[in-house]
Amino acid sequence: MPDVHCTVNTCKYWEARNLCNAQQIVVQSDGHGGFSPNAQLEQLSATPAANIAETCCQTFKNAKG
Ligand code: SF4
Repeated sequence: MPDVHCTVNTCKYWEARNLCNAQQIVVQSDGHGGFSPNAQLEQLSATPAANIAETCCQTFKNAKG
């Protein structure tokens, strides 16, 4: 799978440098999402989520179980 950069650092699949280690992900549209394609992906600020409804990614699993 190509590198997937993600700032949801409360997900069990999240890794340092804003990388996702899931084998597959499901993403839905979000009118509030998006950033410049030139952004430094590894340096984006964290955007923690408590549950799947707070993310665009439907593969999210809370790292706390
Ligand atoms: S929220 Fe989605 S993209 Fe982000 S680390 Fe979790 S599974 Fe990967």
